[in-house]
Amino acid sequence: MSDRQVLFTGFVFGVWGDDAMTLVNSFDRNRTGIAYFSMEIALESDMPTYSGGLGVLAGDTVRSSADLNVPLVAVSLVSRKGYFKQKLNQNGDQVEFPSDWEPSKFTEELPVRATVKIEGRDVQVRAFHYSVSSPKGGVVPVLLLDTDIETNLPHDRAITDYLYGGDLEYRLKQEVILGVGGVRILDTLGFRIRRYHMNEGHSALLALELLRKNQFDAQRVKEMCIFTTHTPVEAAFDKFDYPMVNRILGDLVPSETVRQYGGVDRLNMTLLALNLSDYINGVSKRYGEYSKSLFPGYKVHAITNGVHSYTWTCAHFRRLYDKYLPGWADEPSLLTRVGIIPDEQILEAHREAKEDLLTCVKTMTGVVMDPRVLTVGLARRATGYKRLDFIFSDVERLRKIARRWGLQIIFAGKSHPKDETGKMIIRRIFQLINGLKDDIKMVYLENYDLALSKLVVSGVDVWLNTPLPPMEASGTSGMKAAHNGVLNFSVLDGWWVEGWIEGITGWSIGPHPHENITPEERKPQEIEDLYNKLNYVISPTYYDRVDSWAMMMQNTISILASYFNSHRMMHRYVTDAYL
Ligand SMILES: *Cc1c(COP(=O)(O)O)cnc(C)c1O
Repeated sequence: MSDRQVLFTGFVFGVWGDDAMTLVNSFDRNRTGIAYFSMEIALESDMPTYSGGLGVLAGDTVRSSADLNVPLVAVSLVSRKGYFKQKLNQNGDQVEFPSDWEPSKFTEELPVRATVKIEGRDVQVRAFHYSVSSPKGGVVPVLLLDTDIETNLPHDRAITDYLYGGDLEYRLKQEVILGVGGVRILDTLGFRIRRYHMNEGHSALLALELLRKNQFDAQRVKEMCIFTTHTPVEAAFDKFDYPMVNRILGDLVPSETVRQYGGVDRLNMTLLALNLSDYINGVSKRYGEYSKSLFPGYKVHAITNGVHSYTWTCAHFRRLYDKYLPGWADEPSLLTRVGIIPDEQILEAHREAKEDLLTCVKTMTGVVMDPRVLTVGLARRATGYKRLDFIFSDVERLRKIARRWGLQIIFAGKSHPKDETGKMIIRRIFQLINGLKDDIKMVYLENYDLALSKLVVSGVDVWLNTPLPPMEASGTSGMKAAHNGVLNFSVLDGWWVEGWIEGITGWSIGPHPHENITPEERKPQEIEDLYNKLNYVISPTYYDRVDSWAMMMQNTISILASYFNSHRMMHRYVTDAYL
């Protein structure tokens, strides 16, 4: 008997044990399903298989799919040493530590292997199974691919160690494991896949594997593939030189085929995904618009991101919603009726969330913040375009506002180990935290992860977001804030263009993207808005008009949280892309 038959009989007679039985059963109710591929996925705070928003989106996608009974299986890498653990010394220098984790603590190893060729060698791939189960009974299996197998050579065993680590060669090898290994593992396990959904271009090699399996019938492959793009700059696409590609991929498919779909000069993973997918989408309406100019000639749809409502609502607001809006987690559109909750109870739930955060700030940094003072949060990956230090554009103006009204600021975010600009931004923030400490209490919290994110997005009063347009494809942390009644103050980019109603759901910074304006004209406008609104609108409302503030919290929940959730997003993917 071939391996495949042995496994298949093993499955039929339950040799796999209960866990693996549920794996295919739950998926296979309709016989076929969707395979969702992502380089990173945020399943639990302590499973370091994610680095930022892309992984959080993947996690929220599987959580909503489980709740909604979407027949979906997710494929990612095990990333045994994680992204990294961040420590910051007194100067704000980032020091990185491996973030090792033990897959057996969270997952079940599956008794299957797939083989892929890398540089002409056979590399074995195995999978760990993590199960996402919904209280409603739905289950989504997540397969985390791993090459750390004794029969592999030492450097092949390390391919699935570091998320976004190593050089281009390391990255390409990871992408072979994810794309090609992923398709093969699913086949070996008996999954019948009708759609392959690529969350970003990292997994686009799966399309080459599908071409190979389908007699190079590109039309058939395109009908099966869906591509979701998140990267608004050409420079950020994964690109690989052909000598390296040919060496690593070998004869997976003829090299002319790779060039035909992946680009003439270099293998461009975005191009490969675009050329072999019938359904392409950006992750907000604004980015959909913008990506038309980025990808001329391709039809780009827009499905705006969302966050998993239950996951991102803190305990205090969950309790309120459970009491007044039962069923809200299953049907977040019920949050439109948040108005039936008395203002005082909304304010009280927020006070409790703020207390949780300030307690954590004290534990982590020793700094005691005042719960009565307007507290602004900004936490996200520390990288150039996110402009984490934009609030310091005019330090003296900021100081004046803080002296007049009272202001506290909470920062957090990791910088990619090779991103020198990001690291410089963190150091600059540290200097300013120190330099302004007599007027503004500020802290920078280490090692931003899911758990810390939830505390910060629910515990501050205002969520500030100042990325450089049009770089924020969607952004999701502001949606998390909205689920907790935290008000957004943000540049008009990504999702905020759709969520923003001035003075109702929050406030804008800078011009609308449809305004015809040069980058040189934009920045002064952003700076004016930032300080003027903080001084003349936000602070006075917070300190002197609590009723108006409570009303805006209500609006934020009813208008934003009811829409910007991943249940709504998955309904769209199902009707527009999967069916
Ligand atoms: C939500 C989240 C992000 C994404 O935040 P953006 O503001 O969309 O960049 C990044 N990292 C963590 C840990 C998160 O929870």
